[in-house]
Formats: sequence, C-alpha cells, structure tokens
Amino acid sequence: MSIKSRTKIQDALTSDEFEKEITVKGWVRTRRGNKKIAFIALNDGSTINNIQIIADVPAFPEELLRQITTGACISVTGLLTSSPGGGQNVEIQAQTIELYGAADPASYPLQKKGHSLEFLREIAHLRPRTNTFGAIFRIRHAMAYAIHKYFNDNGFFYLHTPIITGSDAEGAGEMFRVTTLDMNNPPKTQDGKINYKEDFFGKETNLTVSGQLEGELGALALSEIYTFGPTFRAENSNTPRHLAEFWMIEPEMAFYDIEDNMDLAEDFLKYLTVYALEHCHEDLNFLNNMYDKELISRLNSVINTDFMRISYTEAVEILSSSGADFEFPTHWGSDLQSEHERYLVEAHFKKPVIITGYPKKIKAFYMKQNDDGNTVRAMDVLFPKIGEIIGGSQREDDINKLEARIKELDIPMEDLGWYLDTRKFGNAPHSGFGLGFERMMLFITGMSNIRDVMPFPRTPKNAAF
Ligand code: ATP
Ligand code: MN
Repeated sequence: MSIKSRTKIQDALTSDEFEKEITVKGWVRTRRGNKKIAFIALNDGSTINNIQIIADVPAFPEELLRQITTGACISVTGLLTSSPGGGQNVEIQAQTIELYGAADPASYPLQKKGHSLEFLREIAHLRPRTNTFGAIFRIRHAMAYAIHKYFNDNGFFYLHTPIITGSDAEGAGEMFRVTTLDMNNPPKTQDGKINYKEDFFGKETNLTVSGQLEGELGALALSEIYTFGPTFRAENSNTPRHLAEFWMIEPEMAFYDIEDNMDLAEDFLKYLTVYALEHCHEDLNFLNNMYDKELISRLNSVINTDFMRISYTEAVEILSSSGADFEFPTHWGSDLQSEHERYLVEAHFKKPVIITGYPKKIKAFYMKQNDDGNTVRAMDVLFPKIGEIIGGSQREDDINKLEARIKELDIPMEDLGWYLDTRKFGNAPHSGFGLGFERMMLFITGMSNIRDVMPFPRTPKNAAF
C-alpha cells in the first residue's frame, strides 16, 4: 500500500460503511483516557472536525502510546464504527498505530488550551494546526478557487502581469526596490548617483503595487481579463487592514463604463459571499461561534441587499452633517478615512456603499475625468467592518486629458509610452477595479486583523517565516 493511501478524515466522518477497515493519518489534537482505554482526537486538515480514535491501551506498546500527545503525527488503521454517544457519529477502533513524528509536550507550543491570536502570530509556522487557522486557510483556498471560477464562467481570461516592474508610475503606493547591485559598493555615475544602468535590468526596478496598467493592455485585446497575484506596498502603515505583501484581484474590461464596473463589482462580491456560505459552512460556523457572533448574519445581509450608490459629494455632506465625532474632519476635497467609510456603511446606510465621483486631485492619473473638470469616475466599494474593499474606475480614454494629467503630476512621460499607445491605437472605453484578497478574507471570516487571514504576513519590521 502506498503511504498516501488513506481515508481523509472528512470522508471518514461522513461515511456509513461501518465495520470496514480504514486508515487515517493526521495530527493529534488531544489524548485522554485511562489505563484501559485511550481516546485520541485526530485531525488531518481536511475538515475542522476531528475523528475520535479508540485504542485499547494494553494492546499497544507503552512507549508508543506515551508519545501520542498533542501535535504528534500518526497513522491509524482500524475499524470504522458507529459512535453511540458524544458529538460524533463515527469513531475508529484502532488496530495498528504508527508514529510518524512525536511532539515533545515540554517544548511543543500548541497545547490544548486556547491561545491568543497575538501569540499564534508569533508561531505562524505552527498556527495552521489550530482549528482557527485550519478554518481560515481552507476558506482562503475556497475563495481563491471561487474567484477563478467566477471569471472563467463569465468569459474573463486570467492574465499574468509582471511582479517586477520597470515603471514607477503605477501610482498606488511606495515601492520596494529590486536590485542585484552591491549595496556596500554600488556603481556610481559621474554626478555621484547610483548607476542603475549597471543593475540587473539596466534600469531601476521595483516590486509591483498593481497589475492594472498591464491589465489594460490585456483588456484592449482580449476584452475581459483579470489578474490575481501578489502586490507589494512599502508604506509604513501598521494598521489591521494593511500588509506590505498582499494579493489583489484586478479585472479589467473593454466596453464597460463606470456603471457596468459597479454592477460587476457588486455581483462579484455577492458571488464570493454566496460561495463561502455554500461551501465553507462548517468553518464559518466555527468562526461565528468563536470570534464574531454576527458573522453569518452579516454575510447574509450583504447578499440580500442592493449596495447603496452615492457620489463623493453626497458622502461628504452626510459626514459633515452627521454630528459624529471623527478623528479627521471631512470637507470637499479631503480623502475619506476608514472611520468615515465605516460610518457610512455601518451607522448611516447599514449596507455596502459604492462611492463614485471623487475629486480628481486625490485619485490616480488614469481615472476618467468628468465634464465638471473636478471629479473622476472612480468607485470605491465600502464594506462593513472593513471600509474600502475595492478601488476602481472607468479609465481615461481621452489621450489629451491623460497626457495633461501625467504632466501635472510630474510622472515621466517616457516611462508610459507603451501605456499611451493603447489610447493611440484602437482605443476603447474601458474600466476595472482592484479587490484586496485579504480585505475580502477579513470580511468573509470576520477576523479583525489582516495578519490573521494571510498565512505568512509581511508588515513593517516583520518578515519572519
Ligand atoms: P487604502 O486607502 O485602504 O490604503 P488604497 O486606496 O491605497 O487602500 P488601492 O490602491 O485602491 O488601495 O488598492 C485596491 C485595493 O487593494 C484596496 O481597495 C484594498 O482592498 C487593497 N489594498 C490596498 N492596499 C492594501 C494593503 N496595504 N494591504 C492589503 N490590502 C490592500
Ligand atoms: Mn483605493
């Protein structure tokens, strides 16, 4: 028998082939019992639920049983039996047990008692073995799959945009430099600056903050594309909603205006929420009970409501006349902070909100300008407990306005020749948006810190694991 042949615990728990011999493999969650009988709760990550193993103590070597402690990895062969009492329907009467790896209780950091999320962040290499992170990472997988399924089913093509970028015009944030130059002794130009001509790519390069600009190139050929990849921002924002490395989903569509863009964003977010409710209910129930009693009702409320759509100007009016005590005051022209976004969603409208028509001054150069000369066809989707979950826009397709904006912002035009070519050749109205995958994960799981929905989070001063 090959070593991988076994029954997944998920399948064993739902099987009714009693008295059949099966093999399960996994990590011990707990062991209890007495001199005669041992009860081992085993988990293999296929489900949040453990299977109970019953072992007749005298039938096994003492030394083996002694090493079956929390965290140990074992293989168990035995009879699947219908379980009379307790929470479970089935259990396994062990015939043979093989120990793959012990976990010395004196040093294994995950013990039976619940650990704080803060502590678990420090042992991110072991936290996948907890119920909480098992649930979160299974949901994360399901969401990633659902994203590809949604776009595939709707005729979008998955386009891989570069992770190392030579353009510093993406405009979405501070970047991480990519270089192979010797930092202690970099080559210099005559005027004493670092000579990037000698660098690996012969120019300055960075990690991408967004795949959008290249995404537009794809959309203006394949009509509807999406990217789904890692993005990097070197901002020093130590908040529960920011990572230095995060994943972003960026659809980009030819022949979509801002209304079509909003319709897509709303449909997409609802689809993902429905998918989670339908495919991850056990994990969601666990998170709902453990962390956020409103979680499932919040997920249901989002799929059963039309998102509120308002202009930035209306949003500022609501906020200024709200009487709420904000840390940052709002006036027309100021960027909305998370506290404002959450006020609109949670206190005022009590549903997701899409804001359009932002001042052009606070938004990126590529957003389509409205005829008023002041605002752009941007759209931010705001969600309960999160604030901004999506940022998007209709893209500027008037090359004169686009070039004027690039000049105004002092972005080097020569870096963007390839981008401007789309407006010169076969130009088309088009739109797109970016959904932060971990922000979506915060919403779906109800977790409150983005470090807890990313397997190995990178934040300022932290790149462990
Ligand atoms: P924020 O104002 O919340 O910092 P942003 O406006 O800078 O976000 P965009 O450039 O619009 O972000 O990026 C698109 C989406 O990517 C955001 O709506 C958000 O969901 C996500 N996102 C942006 N920055 C981060 C980050 N540092 N960590 C995780 N997700 C992020
Ligand atoms: Mn944004």
